Amino acid sequence: MIFDVITLFPEIIEGYCNVSIMKRAREAGIFEVNAINPRDFTLDKHKKVDDTPYGGGAGMVLAPQPYIDAYESIEKKTNFKTVMLSPQGKPLDESVVCSLANYSQIVMLCGHYEGFDERIREIIKPEEISVGDFVLTGGELPALCLIDAVSRKLEGTLGKIESAQTDSFSNGLLEYPQYTKPREYRGLRIPEVLLNGNHQEIAQYRLNQQIERTKQRRPDLYEKYSEKNK
Ligand code: SAM
Repeated sequence: MIFDVITLFPEIIEGYCNVSIMKRAREAGIFEVNAINPRDFTLDKHKKVDDTPYGGGAGMVLAPQPYIDAYESIEKKTNFKTVMLSPQGKPLDESVVCSLANYSQIVMLCGHYEGFDERIREIIKPEEISVGDFVLTGGELPALCLIDAVSRKLEGTLGKIESAQTDSFSNGLLEYPQYTKPREYRGLRIPEVLLNGNHQEIAQYRLNQQIERTKQRRPDLYEKYSEKNK
């Protein structure tokens, strides 16, 4: 998998992707992350990538030329997908993450300031993806959310692929409560069932916890789950 990120702040992308699980997986060749700076493509002598909005209004709008040229400089695989990080996009959730994990290359456009000149959308025709109904300063954190979440679906990123298989949302439910040593901490003991070595009972206990937790915290998800498991 190749993640290409078009961003005015490559250091944000590189900083995050150079630590912990991301770093190990990149070094193991499971995925590649490239940050491409549109400023390197601007034809403006002052390296400007933005300008004031036509029609007036606050802030600066990202100009088409540096972004389109940066985008067109990227060599595309046959099975690639272009994503624009945008608060106006489709919400990023588990099903979007799983479908993105099927591509061999994801090219991402990160905005900044007031966002993109509309013609960037018209020419590139990206899929717009949002990380929630709030507005961030730039698309770098959303792009990193996407890279992180998609890379966890790739074989080899996590030590054991089962870690992702039991995570929240993987079976439509939130994850069950987890415990580690010691058995008792400040008077709080771990549930006995986890110590009895009976894998079937443990699995049943965990599923019940998942259902209960989802019902309480995410009635919307619980409703979908019950509908599917009728
Ligand atoms: N004026 C734009 C609007 O109201 O739709 C918002 C621009 S925002 C300040 C700058 C950039 O941050 C966007 O172009 C986008 O790349 C990114 N961004 C902000 N909020 C986001 C979100 N919720 N999801 C994904 N990207 C977001």
